[in-house]
Amino acid sequence: MATETMEFKTELEQLLHLITHSLYSHREVFLRELISNAADAIDKVRFEGLNNEEILEGDSDWKISIKADKEAKTLTISDNGIGMSRSEVVENLGTIAHSGTKAFLARAKEADLKNNPELIGQFGVGFYASFMVADDVTVVSKAHGEPAVQWESKGTGSFTLSDADKETRGTEITLHLKEDAEEYLNNWTIKSTVKKFSDFLEHPVVLISTKKDEKTEVEEEVEEQINSQKAIWLRPKSEVTDEEYGEFYKHISHDTHHPSETIHYNAEGAIEFKALLFIPEHKPFDMMWNNDPKSHLNLYVQRVFIGNDFENLLPSYLRFVKGVVDSSDLPLNVSREILQENPMLDKIRKNLTARVLKTLAKMKESDYKEFEIFHENFGTVLKEGLQNDWENREKIADLLLFESTKKEAGEKTCFADYVENMAEGQEEILYLAGENHAAIVNSPYLEKFKAEGTEVLLMTDPIDDFVIPQLMEYKGKKLKAVNKGDLEEDKEKLKEEQKEFKGYIGFAQKLLDGVKEVRLTTRLKDSAAVLVGDEYSMSPHIEEMMRRMGQDVPKRESILELNPEHPVVKKVQALYKADKKDPKVKTITQLLHDQAVIASGAKLDDPVAFAARMNEMLAD
Ligand code: ADP
Repeated sequence: MATETMEFKTELEQLLHLITHSLYSHREVFLRELISNAADAIDKVRFEGLNNEEILEGDSDWKISIKADKEAKTLTISDNGIGMSRSEVVENLGTIAHSGTKAFLARAKEADLKNNPELIGQFGVGFYASFMVADDVTVVSKAHGEPAVQWESKGTGSFTLSDADKETRGTEITLHLKEDAEEYLNNWTIKSTVKKFSDFLEHPVVLISTKKDEKTEVEEEVEEQINSQKAIWLRPKSEVTDEEYGEFYKHISHDTHHPSETIHYNAEGAIEFKALLFIPEHKPFDMMWNNDPKSHLNLYVQRVFIGNDFENLLPSYLRFVKGVVDSSDLPLNVSREILQENPMLDKIRKNLTARVLKTLAKMKESDYKEFEIFHENFGTVLKEGLQNDWENREKIADLLLFESTKKEAGEKTCFADYVENMAEGQEEILYLAGENHAAIVNSPYLEKFKAEGTEVLLMTDPIDDFVIPQLMEYKGKKLKAVNKGDLEEDKEKLKEEQKEFKGYIGFAQKLLDGVKEVRLTTRLKDSAAVLVGDEYSMSPHIEEMMRRMGQDVPKRESILELNPEHPVVKKVQALYKADKKDPKVKTITQLLHDQAVIASGAKLDDPVAFAARMNEMLAD
């Protein structure tokens, strides 16, 4: 086939520009990206070869080679992995296939990339990191049963494709180094960079250099293996340093920071496997930008990498956990689909889940500060487990932190401490959900409890309103939202007032649209009126949020509660008693409802009418 020139897709040009301009100080990552692509390519062909030996074509002496040519100023990275056909080269190196990359481009600013160079790898654009150090890149690749192909580009808008001579399967990437990147021709620089990033890769990375035989003066190539190639999770824990764990974590997570917790263990007994898991300290960008609610642990079977998309390896509410699971009990020569069904995976999941929850519980006990950071970043995700993991819900509940009426803003408590501090006779765990601390700390719903000195948990994470009711109870104590349902004691305490207010309440009920019921309450101390929902209704601030997101939320029918001790409520009752038709009775009643709507965190349907009513009363 003749040589053809093709244009990069526009996003790719944009991306190349970003990469080459913003990552200058971190450009050594190019080598890690290329080596890790080579290792992936080897994993792929090895996996395919399990069921199709032909594809291996006798070449299964896995190796990633690096060679520097000081005269030509080129650095070549080659592998005997799966290789690419002509169309795969175009697809993989000429377009941005990954949807994550598009999201990345839409949001990434140069500043972001400067602070987080790891983003590049995270979004599957690793290969293009080559252009940070090279002004010309050539890729020669051959897939099984396909002719070899050559791709070349200067990273400026287009690339050429042509036929190539390559007999063996695999990929060879040659970088023509920029003048200011010539340090990468230096064997020492190559070695230390590989050590830093790829020491634990399970495939050998070798450096090829030429040496002159002293006697014969003939140049010959010598191979030196650079990485120690020890799968870190197979080594005994006592022999792995924190530094090594840290680098490995960064390698698999593309995070720039050290992990918050490292969990390394061998499961023995009914199922045997080795696990190396990490709990990140920071929220990774892919979690913020991708709405992919799946866990992505790397699964190895008998040291062969199988994949990172086995959903039943860890529940999705623990998807922040990164790491590796290696099992010798799972079958190797079966398709991924069949493996996915293997009941052993469920057992592994149960075991891993228990470990992670235990580690978090320990962290909460022994390093509360660190745990708070974890909770800040991943608490919302963890809470999904209240809904999805019935078996562990109490353990998950134990890990949740909440603000409370007895703490300063930002300070947290937990269910266990709440229950511990409950007064004699208090049967329920009380909570109020709202948009943020400031919006609810002075809420009328809390007045009665503040006056009594009863603690109320303040839940300000939007997911709380969905998942907390599902928990129903904690250690035998029922959970109760203070803005929902009625107060038991009201019926008894307000017998007299009920009689007295009966006529007015009937009037108010007729007057107010969208109000299911008007009733008296002891819930309030300083406020005159409040709206309450049914026991199982959504909170008004959540309804409001969903409306803002464009969802069609039916108007809820709430209950208006009035404080019979409040001067305004007393006044309107007196006016009503004196003259049912007094127009002020109507206006005050509507204003009582308006203020209750505002205090609940919802929006007024007709703010102009509200202002008119206010003015009418002010001018009076
Ligand atoms: P990522 O590796 O994150 O997918 P890259 O831009 O680094 O993103 O690579 C794009 C794709 O090109 C890879 O997914 C892979 O299919 C292909 N590729 C890259 N390097 C190699 C290689 N050495 N051998 C085979 N395929 C490769």
